[in-house]
Amino acid sequence: MYYKSTRDSAVKVTSAQAIAQGISAEGGLFVPESIPSITMDDVKKLGAMSYSERATFVFSKFLTDFDEAEIRYCTENAYSVKNFDTENIAEIAHLFDGTYMLELWHGPTCAFKDMALQILPYLLTVSTKKIKLDKKVVILVATSGDTGKAALEGFKDVEGTQILVFYPEDGVSAMQKKQMTTQDGNNVGVCAIKGNFDDAQNGVKKIFTSDEMKKALADNGMMFSSANSINWGRLAPQIIYYVSTYAQLLADGEISEGEKINIVVPTGNFGNILAAYYAKKMGIPVNKLICASNSNNVLTDFINTGVYDRNRKFYTTISPSMDILISSNLERLLYILCGENDAQIREWFGKLAECGRYEVTPEVKKALSEEFCAGFCDDAATEETIKKIYDKYSYTCDTHTAVAVKVYSDYREKTGDKTKTVIASTASPYKFNTAVLEALGADIKTDDEFEKVDVLAQMSKMPVPKSLAELKGKEVRFKGSVDKDEMKDYVLKALGISR
Ligand SMILES: *Cc1c(COP(=O)(O)O)cnc(C)c1O
Repeated sequence: MYYKSTRDSAVKVTSAQAIAQGISAEGGLFVPESIPSITMDDVKKLGAMSYSERATFVFSKFLTDFDEAEIRYCTENAYSVKNFDTENIAEIAHLFDGTYMLELWHGPTCAFKDMALQILPYLLTVSTKKIKLDKKVVILVATSGDTGKAALEGFKDVEGTQILVFYPEDGVSAMQKKQMTTQDGNNVGVCAIKGNFDDAQNGVKKIFTSDEMKKALADNGMMFSSANSINWGRLAPQIIYYVSTYAQLLADGEISEGEKINIVVPTGNFGNILAAYYAKKMGIPVNKLICASNSNNVLTDFINTGVYDRNRKFYTTISPSMDILISSNLERLLYILCGENDAQIREWFGKLAECGRYEVTPEVKKALSEEFCAGFCDDAATEETIKKIYDKYSYTCDTHTAVAVKVYSDYREKTGDKTKTVIASTASPYKFNTAVLEALGADIKTDDEFEKVDVLAQMSKMPVPKSLAELKGKEVRFKGSVDKDEMKDYVLKALGISR
């Protein structure tokens, strides 16, 4: 299996190269040249396996240049109870009849990003060895809050790597900030920027593609790579939990063989829902993929009209990891839907960069609406939903997951579709405790994050994640913040390169 680029179909690299490089030289994203299939017999067999064995099976289809021992080394180290607080790794909770919460936040940083970022460092180090790359890999991350911490935890003290994270100064929750600024490890750096997530992401993309920066690194025996979901090594691990969930529901007798399910995903950069689409393309029976957005509803409009237009107000919401107006992974989906027409992708994404808007062809619009449904909700509806499902089902969910629950209940009301449904639950409510407590109507008189955690523990009856409890009293190591056009200088300085 080789990988090509969405902006140049003639590019042909192995998975190891795609993972080590992160993004293709001309700015396109790596995609597999074909999507491997999985049969119902495979799915039945997976039902009896552990999560890491399921992961080994799925990876072996995509990473054909890795041998089985290499894949096992990665999956067994990443998906173990050393890192996750449940043996199942991805937990399935029942919300109500035929509706399941896929809890993807049992990893070390309490958000679904751990599902991929616990394994990416292993995939990356195996990849660099495979292609005999003897350079230090510098991981640059732009984060809306969760990726940054998950990447820091994954890469801390990993030999041959250094990781630098940029986050929007006023765009992350207090707990997220505390998680990042207290990060330990001797190859890590964290810096706030004066701007929003899109500014951080654009800044990082500029640094990645700057010849001057690439040369500065090369002259010092280093190269850039990415831990954002533009890296195929981030996306592939996310396919696994959808395959695994189907196998589990089948093994548990919740669904019958071949029965279709809906999948609802609270969406920002379009990575998580794209992974569900890949799982469907592999052969997992899926009816609709439901894309849920917050007030930054650029994807809702796009899926409903075929027009992508980022020229709109940017909202800072209580679901900050979805505060995004440029969803990078859409490029991979559109590449598939337009018949792998790289010229078409260059045209649309050129327009996006130039004027912030493009419109897909009627054929692509039709294909989109066959596979996807989309909806959004604002902060008030998000809070109401948290309260409602707490009262009704004694289940406490975080703000991002609540957006998905609300969009799903609107969908169900509108369509009457009673297909069994999996809702991706992307973060622990403890990570967004202020907003969750407010939604629950708790009377909080404190600004102290950890007192709030205690209140939430009493109300939710859910155990406090160890990693969050341990942040209490941890020293803040990273206090810096820079303007968005100072990001380059920060990187050079952090890497010890002088100009
Ligand atoms: C990153 C994130 C999302 C959005 O996922 P994408 O793959 O970027 O669409 C949703 N919820 C939470 C909690 C996240 O951290």
